[in-house]
Amino acid sequence: SKPVSDTIILPDGAVLPRVGQGTWQIGEEPAKRAEEIAALRQGVELGMNLIDTAEMYGDGRSEELVGEALEGIRDSVFLVSKVYPHNAGGTKLVSSCEASLKRLGTDHLDLYLLHWRGTIPLEETVEGMEALVASGKIVRWGVSNLDTPDMQELLRIPGGNHCAVNQVLYHLGSRGIEHELLPWMRGHKIPVMAYSPLAQAGTLRKGLTENEAVQQIARNHGVTPLQVLLAWSIREGDVLAIPKAGSVKHVIENAAAGKLVLTDDELWQLDDAFPQPSWKVPLDMI
Ligand code: NDP
Repeated sequence: SKPVSDTIILPDGAVLPRVGQGTWQIGEEPAKRAEEIAALRQGVELGMNLIDTAEMYGDGRSEELVGEALEGIRDSVFLVSKVYPHNAGGTKLVSSCEASLKRLGTDHLDLYLLHWRGTIPLEETVEGMEALVASGKIVRWGVSNLDTPDMQELLRIPGGNHCAVNQVLYHLGSRGIEHELLPWMRGHKIPVMAYSPLAQAGTLRKGLTENEAVQQIARNHGVTPLQVLLAWSIREGDVLAIPKAGSVKHVIENAAAGKLVLTDDELWQLDDAFPQPSWKVPLDMI
């Protein structure tokens, strides 16, 4: 298989790491706080310098913890947050953004995403996002959980083509985007940011990590099955992934997985075990 670069280039030239860090469910337990902060900082040091959060996560507690973790290193991090659909327009968009900035202890976001599509017209969200860019509160904006028809609609709106990324669910057990959305995004040179690349926790993940092919490939490389999942999610070189880790140990493993290159033969084995759908399926979401 082809060697892939460590970075992804956005349409506007910004350079992103292919593995960043998610923060959903971080900042929830006081006893875990110090370790979570240490994990995020270690991750940045290891090159996973994109941090993804949202006003929704823990009702702002995730952003607050990220703010603490950013102390002294804000400039080396590409900071992403998200606005609730019901706040994604008019003065609510401005006040949501300002509240996120305050919790994060920064004066700008590198990327601000519409968390999913709600009832506020996309036109209004684009207009508001462009105004936030003009005022310097955000550097660029993007979307999350938008399927192909929504993306097509977005790109027909004036300014809609400034959309920098679409953050969607993507892992070995959920390959629906490969049929239509991912090729469409490629065609428009808008990167996909894969969320839940480790399939979260629970029974779905178990089916992946206990799979014979996954386990054999992990043994081939002396890594864990989850590292195989992460390497698989970014195998094409134009998808970036944002695993969430609450410990330094997990962060170190995830950074190493970002450098793991699966062979063509291994990729075929995984295709065989978890085939890509050959028909259009609705976008998977959490
Ligand atoms: P992930 O697929 O990233 O899985 C996270 C789980 O994997 C945690 O339980 C974590 O445990 C564990 N884990 C991480 N690294 C390792 C490792 N090396 N070995 C073993 N276990 C590990 O799930 P998420 O749903 O959190 O997705 C990642 C991020 O994507 C979110 O945090 C969020 O930022 C974003 N997201 C966006 C959504 C959207 O609608 N836009 C929806 C869902 C997620 P531990 O904490 O103990 O390390």
